[in-house]
Amino acid sequence: MRPFEYVRAADAASAAAAVASVPGAKFLAGGSNLVDLMKEDVERPTRVVDIRQLPLRQIQRTRAGLSLGALATNTETANHPVIRENYPLLTQAIVAGASGQLRNMATNGGNLLQRTRCNYFYDTATPCNKREPGTGCGAREGLNKIHAVLGWSEACVATYPGDMANALYALDANVRVHTTDGRERLIPIADFHRLPGDTPQRDNNLEHGELILAIELPVSAAEFARNSHYLKVRDRTSYAFAMVSVAAALQLDGGTIRQARVVLGSVAHKPWRSAEAEAELVGRRATEDTFRQAAAAALRDARPLAHNAYKVELGQRSVVRALMRAAKLA
Ligand SMILES: Cc1cc2nc3c(=O)[nH]c(=O)nc-3n(C[C@H](O)[C@H](O)[C@H](O)COP(=O)(O)OP(=O)(O)OC[C@H]3O[C@@H](n4cnc5c(N)ncnc54)[C@H](O)[C@@H]3O)c2cc1C
Ligand code: SF4
Repeated sequence: MRPFEYVRAADAASAAAAVASVPGAKFLAGGSNLVDLMKEDVERPTRVVDIRQLPLRQIQRTRAGLSLGALATNTETANHPVIRENYPLLTQAIVAGASGQLRNMATNGGNLLQRTRCNYFYDTATPCNKREPGTGCGAREGLNKIHAVLGWSEACVATYPGDMANALYALDANVRVHTTDGRERLIPIADFHRLPGDTPQRDNNLEHGELILAIELPVSAAEFARNSHYLKVRDRTSYAFAMVSVAAALQLDGGTIRQARVVLGSVAHKPWRSAEAEAELVGRRATEDTFRQAAAAALRDARPLAHNAYKVELGQRSVVRALMRAAKLA
């Protein structure tokens, strides 16, 4: 690991300033992603700003809904009684991730910002536009079994690997951020992560030095509590990232779908909310046939790479199964 300056921030403003003022600086939360990447020489921060002592751990009701502190751990969040009761999709998605030990360390803010698991990104001997812009993409013509089938660019075919964010996309969350000029701004979760385009080095729309304060869940998202399901398909049942995952949520009126959310994970550079699938669902009867049509719509624009065509059929089957479980038909 390379030498770096270690700074402990006293409050949100000084944390943001300590990162904003040094181009290579990074916040440190649970450290379960950042420190791994530093050991692999992928991340090379010149300054690490420890934010763990900031008062950003509360999970509390607000007028708008529920606010999840950026430093609340994944375990605290998944186990919170209000979340289990009103946003069970989020609990399911979090506990599908990593392991108990990791979830005890991982924070909500750090989880959102976890980086891709592309093998070439981790291997500093290979080209990678995300790690070193302009060097090329090792995965485009390399081993790309775990890579994207939707929304990729010639510059980068990586996926966003996390679970929690998929549920947050389905629940229309917002991310509250402390800006570098001392204000706060709310970023709708749909606008938080980015597609790779020509700038795959940028995973999200945060500016350098912006600090996540909280993730906010709207009251209205609780209307999906009765009919939601998080499905994660992976090589082994624990301690593995998804090949494909689906966050599915429905609002049913009798057997008719009033509102629907379908978000696919590990198929694109960001959680992939499928407007096409949702349009196939709204106003229709909740049946397996309807769900099959939605699944076909979700993957219609897929462009598989040499080694990941399996994700197209797996993605469709996963959408159907997640919707069947959400509707309590399976
Ligand atoms: C073996 C292993 C298996 C895993 N499996 C899964 C899995 O199946 N599913 C899954 O979803 N995840 C999985 N993870 C990833 C894990 O969930 C993340 O490492 C963790 O959530 C990151 O949180 P952290 O608090 O440790 O972040 P850190 O490592 O501290 O930070 C990550 C990034 O976020 C930035 N950051 C942190 N907090 C803030 C903030 N408040 N504001 C602005 N920037 C901030 C840091 O600067 C850094 O760039 C796995 C990790 C490991 C090591
Ligand atoms: S897919 Fe993206 S992260 Fe992976 S090697 Fe290509 S540019 Fe790098």
